[in-house]
Amino acid sequence: MSFAFDPAGLTLPNAHFIGGKYIPGPAAIDIRSPSTGAVLGAIPCADAALVDHAVQTARKALATSNWGGLPPRDRLRAMCAWADLIEAEAETFAALEAICSSRPYTQALAGDVMVTAEQIRFFAEFADKEGGALAPVSDNHFAYIADEPYGVIGAITPWNFPMSMAGWKFGPALAAGNAVVLKPSEMTPYSTLYMAELSVRAGIPAGLVNVVLGDGPTTGTAITGHPGIDKVSFTGSTRAGGAIMENIARTGIKPMTLELGGKSPMVVFADADLDVAAASLEKGIMPNAGQFCVAGSRMIVAREIADELAARLIERFAKYRPANTFARDAAFSPIISETQLGRIHSIVQAAAGQGGEMLCGGARFDHEGSFYQPTLIAGVTSDNLAVQQEIFGPVATFQTFDTEDEAMVMANDTAYGLCAGLFTRDLSRAMRLTRRLEAGAVWVNRYGRSRDHILPTSGWKSSGLGHDLGREAYHANRRSKSVLIDL
Ligand code: NAD
Repeated sequence: MSFAFDPAGLTLPNAHFIGGKYIPGPAAIDIRSPSTGAVLGAIPCADAALVDHAVQTARKALATSNWGGLPPRDRLRAMCAWADLIEAEAETFAALEAICSSRPYTQALAGDVMVTAEQIRFFAEFADKEGGALAPVSDNHFAYIADEPYGVIGAITPWNFPMSMAGWKFGPALAAGNAVVLKPSEMTPYSTLYMAELSVRAGIPAGLVNVVLGDGPTTGTAITGHPGIDKVSFTGSTRAGGAIMENIARTGIKPMTLELGGKSPMVVFADADLDVAAASLEKGIMPNAGQFCVAGSRMIVAREIADELAARLIERFAKYRPANTFARDAAFSPIISETQLGRIHSIVQAAAGQGGEMLCGGARFDHEGSFYQPTLIAGVTSDNLAVQQEIFGPVATFQTFDTEDEAMVMANDTAYGLCAGLFTRDLSRAMRLTRRLEAGAVWVNRYGRSRDHILPTSGWKSSGLGHDLGREAYHANRRSKSVLIDL
């Protein structure tokens, strides 16, 4: 087996990237491979003074480059050059994802890297196509709504899909004329750092793309509370989103976008195409071993087809086997850390204690690395911990229903509202229930986004505030100013 890329030859940048250069700091946080448990390197943890340096650098770079005031096509060109460089370095990026983020190399190469480059191009295109508007007031007045960048966006991203999450933040912020100070997860910093390095090579002025490394309590809190950050854009857990809201309320009000956790239902009616439903339910929970925000972790199935669908899923789940993320045929991800694996197992055990029946799985794999068995838990009611808590692992609950109303009550019965799947051949039922599902996205007879970035993500309920992706994400990075002139 040979790859063009040799992971052993990777240079891991264990330093912040501020003002167009790497800034080292004392090693503070170990980075581990979830495939093998090996320590790969140690990154520094930015304190308030270093975050302040990054914010001041970003503000200065905005002023000297006039990034927000440039002809928009100049921003578009530089960002497209950046996307081209990212694609040209696809093997390096795929390796940087595979080495620490649990993403198999071949999936990162074909998926995440290309998707990230596409996201940056997608948002770059908005730069010269969206703008303010004239506002009719009266003959004696001239009025318009100006549309301006915020200034410096403070972005914080999670460990899952680190490159793509960075693309969600950098893309719209830069296209809209802002600078960014981004903190990636302390577990998966490398691909974001390398993206920042390439942004300067692509011609984006140094100081507009800054990456500070560190943990949530120290570095994250310093970013969200900094008065020089004009808006916060966060993706991560609902718990951390709440802490960020509190910190923003305490340190001075500023706008924020929060993309948070989920506990999404996949509802299957008896008239559904069972081949489509079985394949989609697998796709709803098994990618990245269930470690993705929109995971369909609650299967809600019509009683008549429950046994047949469960049998098909058990058969599909059985093919997932542990493999090093660099193996050519790796299709199953390790759990990001031993701590997270322990958390998954304790929720599964608690579910069993509350009457849950393991249709399959329920334990870790006896294998090197942090791998958990695909797990399906039946016999649970809505008060079961496994139904209510985001597990972030290859674990789904399996509930049955008799009536449409019962299915909708079950589907909406959590604090979250990120997305939902619906499987039926009945078009009127699909349209009717799409409205009843409390979620920012509903997928009918499929599960998951396509690669079309025009559809925004927006969590309802405890899943978030505001939008990422889509036209909405571009506008979320600009603010309006009403101008009224007396003629
Ligand atoms: P996490 O909340 O533990 O950490 C996310 C980021 O926030 C990290 O960079 C972390 O260092 C930082 N952080 C933690 N506490 C903070 C604080 N008090 N102030 C500022 N920053 C803080 O989440 P995670 O384990 O990295 O990622 C998994 C979570 O992210 C899941 O809940 C998942 O659903 C969610 N997620 C949501 C989306 C979405 O679009 N809705 C996408 C991906 C992941």
